[in-house]
Amino acid sequence: MLSMKNVQAYYGNIHALRDINVEIERGEIITLIGANGAGKTTTLMAISGIVPPRGGSINFLGQPIHALRPDRIVSLGISQVPEGRHIFPHLSVAENLDMGAFLRKDKGQVKEDLEYIFDLFPILAERRAQDGGTLSGGEQQMLAISRALMARPTLLLLDEPSLGLAPLVIKHIFKIIKKINQEHNTTVFLVEQNANLALHTADRGYVMENGRITLEGVADELLADDRVKQAYLGL
Ligand code: ATP
Repeated sequence: MLSMKNVQAYYGNIHALRDINVEIERGEIITLIGANGAGKTTTLMAISGIVPPRGGSINFLGQPIHALRPDRIVSLGISQVPEGRHIFPHLSVAENLDMGAFLRKDKGQVKEDLEYIFDLFPILAERRAQDGGTLSGGEQQMLAISRALMARPTLLLLDEPSLGLAPLVIKHIFKIIKKINQEHNTTVFLVEQNANLALHTADRGYVMENGRITLEGVADELLADDRVKQAYLGL
């Protein structure tokens, strides 16, 4: 579904991504783990066109996307949930969700998708008239995921969904991420610092260090790998 080949990305002179090769098959949950500053967010930004690559290629469903604008990439079926959620605090929950559907032409289907989202996260239905900024951290994460789903993505990019949330809330959100993947046929690329949680959720994973992919494999194999255990699982 998505293929990154030898992708390079820079911030000015800082070479943030070096020779990134990632393959994502339809229906998978793939995770990218690594320490602070490894380049995980930049990898997502390269896919969504916010940090356009300066080398290499990114193909999505057989089409090169590395030179496309972010809005075009969204309309092809890739939505990103940014780290820190970035919901619109002064818009209501319902208005935040509307923003997610902004680029869609099939307005008739939007209502149906809204029902699906309220079914996934009933608390958002209860709070639909409330300003986004008044929600708890967990509810804001639910809203950020839902806003991305309103674009009807076939590939959902999630950046640190567990960040700053209580363990029970994280558990709930990750259960829903699995559900979205399984029932809604949405492929998920999950960036996480919580390697244990990420590898227990994903089918396969990539490990990133200093802008490079240093390990990749089936999630269970990575969980059993001594290098992963030592560096990321605290074992
Ligand atoms: P974190 O978990 O802290 O978000 P990360 O693995 O997602 O880390 P990135 O945010 O992708 O890492 O950062 C990769 C490198 O690029 C780091 O060295 C970081 O300092 C640098 N970087 C990130 N954003 C910018 C920016 N806007 N301008 C300059 N350098 C940046």
